[in-house]
Amino acid sequence: MAYRITLIPGDGIGPEVTEAARRVLDASGVKIEWEIVEAGEKVMGQYGTPLPDYVLESVKRNKVALKGPITTPVGTGFRSVNVALRQALNLYANVRPVKSYEGVPSRYTNVDLIIVRENTEDLYAGIEYMAGDDAAVGVKIITRKASERIVRYAFELARREKRRKVTAVHKANIQKLTDGLFLECARKVAQDYPDIEFEDMIVDAMSMKLVQSPENYDVLVMPNMYGDILSDLAAGLVGGLGIAPGANIGEDGAVFEPIHGSAPKRAGQNLANPTATILSGVMMLRYLGELEAADRVEKAVAKVIKEGKEVTYDLGGSTGTKEFADAVIREMEKI
Ligand code: NAD
Repeated sequence: MAYRITLIPGDGIGPEVTEAARRVLDASGVKIEWEIVEAGEKVMGQYGTPLPDYVLESVKRNKVALKGPITTPVGTGFRSVNVALRQALNLYANVRPVKSYEGVPSRYTNVDLIIVRENTEDLYAGIEYMAGDDAAVGVKIITRKASERIVRYAFELARREKRRKVTAVHKANIQKLTDGLFLECARKVAQDYPDIEFEDMIVDAMSMKLVQSPENYDVLVMPNMYGDILSDLAAGLVGGLGIAPGANIGEDGAVFEPIHGSAPKRAGQNLANPTATILSGVMMLRYLGELEAADRVEKAVAKVIKEGKEVTYDLGGSTGTKEFADAVIREMEKI
């Protein structure tokens, strides 16, 4: 039986990197029927919104989606499609593995951590208003329900993946009520997992320690905004956005997408690195329980990158998006 999965190509480099990922996943042997739905800039004119209802309906129906990046129109009043999707489908956990791959020019070679970012609230709740002409106010929302849920997700993930430690990241010394509540929830949930080490760390100290000694960290869990910032920082430690995958997981579905944006300057030139999207597809295969196929794809990607002969510009090569996918498919056939 084939899985029916929504594919959102997205904007900019999105169509190229999702097409590369789709070809690699199809070659993994897992049978997938793709339902391709367009969102973003190209449908704005026709539907008056970058996120037409049919996109949400497709993801709700199929419960699993692979998504390319979408350009956020600046100054049009439309909210980010990504934020809207996460909220509409209640995709509460944003999971971003950060791993060193041999052959990637990077500052560290020994990083293997996972950032678990709360995905539905914090400053991303989108509540902002002008207080007169000269002051703007943004509301930070942290709830017990969402905090306990995300910390529990992080501990369950740690258990499943045989990880040793969960670090809760916060700024409870200053944001005493909001981050204070998050920390209180983290400490409470941690008591249910005596087999996993627990610590908490203030976000500024965490930023320094991630830069100094990222190998000391395992699973990091945090509110939305800190997760947004630290996951890009962590991606930078292992070679950048081109190789950083991500997943948005909810109780009733999941959307897999690279961390990077639509990189408009690189669009349509067969230049972008599709690794982040392919590895998001690997996370998708694991979510579906297709563990063997997932391992094969990941091994093939790692091999092509390690050899370094057929990699994209950001990894020091001159191979195109499509040709990188061809190389991964060839490598998979040997495994
Ligand atoms: P970006 O990630 O698109 O680009 C940052 C830099 O990384 C650029 O130099 C770009 O060329 C490079 N880069 C990114 N992905 C790459 C890849 N796969 N291969 C090679 N190089 C790559 O970030 P930005 O420029 O800040 O954002 C562009 C647009 O994307 C904005 O409209 C933003 O809102 C949107 N965005 C969307 C998402 C999403 O859909 N999930 C995430 C982030 C940004």
